[in-house]
Amino acid sequence: MADTTHGALAPTYLPLPITIARAQGTHVWDTDGNEFLDFLSGYSALNFGHLHPGLVAAALTQLRQVTLTSRAFDHDRLEEFAQRLVEVVGPLTTGGEDSLVVPMNTGAEAVETAIKAVRKWGYDVRGVPEDQATVIVAGGNFHGRTTTLVGLSDNPTARAGFGPFAPGFRQVPFGDLDAVADAVDDTTVAVLMEPVQGEAGVLVPPDEFWPGLRELTTTQDIALVADEVQSGLGRTGTTLACELWDVRPDLVCLGKALGGGIVPVSAVVGRPEILGVLTPGTHGSTFGGNPLACAVAVAALDLLATGQYQARAAESGKVLTERLDVLVAQGLLAEARTVGLWAGIDLAPELGTGRELCEALLERGVLATDTRAETIRLSPPLSIVQPELEMALDILEESLVALRD
Ligand code: PMP
Repeated sequence: MADTTHGALAPTYLPLPITIARAQGTHVWDTDGNEFLDFLSGYSALNFGHLHPGLVAAALTQLRQVTLTSRAFDHDRLEEFAQRLVEVVGPLTTGGEDSLVVPMNTGAEAVETAIKAVRKWGYDVRGVPEDQATVIVAGGNFHGRTTTLVGLSDNPTARAGFGPFAPGFRQVPFGDLDAVADAVDDTTVAVLMEPVQGEAGVLVPPDEFWPGLRELTTTQDIALVADEVQSGLGRTGTTLACELWDVRPDLVCLGKALGGGIVPVSAVVGRPEILGVLTPGTHGSTFGGNPLACAVAVAALDLLATGQYQARAAESGKVLTERLDVLVAQGLLAEARTVGLWAGIDLAPELGTGRELCEALLERGVLATDTRAETIRLSPPLSIVQPELEMALDILEESLVALRD
């Protein structure tokens, strides 16, 4: 019997009780016309807000030209997309202005692409014996839902029942540089980590971690791969989270906000020696680099290139941090971790679960989601204005008080 709460949908999600009909900027309306502030932003895919006019215009223009060619043929937006990505993100990687780009569709595909590239680079360039390559990953990671990527996870719900998993990965505690150094051997081709772990609850590693990783991997000729699918493109107040520590990774995985919440588009950007191993026939995707995705991504990169969104994230982030610190001081939150306009907040244990808090927020007009039992993530569009931010934080306080009383 099908689960009737999901209708014809397989029960992969347990959505909050709202059916969204319309959205604009930071606002969302349900089918009854009730208004909400979006504090999830499609897990940071909506950094520029819902239906940003520039992004919508770019999509509409492209919809009248050509939407799909497949990579069997070039189209007139493809090189522009790659060039723009190299201009905006290339200099933040060791590839610099010589960076290469592999266009894909989803975050998971971008990470899979990076894994394929570093393995082949390991065999072709580094001389690692065939089928021996290992990639070091972090505990608590989230890189996507493919069988390889859930194999990297230590989340029992994500993994259980889906094995056997791909070999060739070694997990170390996130933020522990000594553990990474101990895990390195002759077969190590890459370290792959999120600069800030999003799904784990916005976990920021110690300040010496990423610079230490950079030094270690450079000395040992190991590729440093940053999964910036969630942390990248403005969320942390910088274009990439790695900039927080002045670290340039060799490869960066991007997704989510690259498509402005309009189209699925992802990419791997970085060192040409590594991405250059993906020669014809070794990798691809029917929709990867399609004209519609490229057109919207170019417009999204244009918005980022102004620096305005990063600046606003940094500015609003200060308000977010101050207000959350007050909630911690009041004992309503056990902990609040913020970076840029991005926060993971842990409820004081006696208040209830993250899910209960999300339901209380929903009743009062704010959309957010729990990421662990006691943790919810706050990631509004970077375009949010201060009165909206203050209003949502008032609602957060009210909801926490309601759970306590
Ligand atoms: N990497 C990170 C860091 C992510 O947060 C996510 C999505 N939450 C992914 C990869 C996977 O992206 P997608 O859902 O687009 O496959």
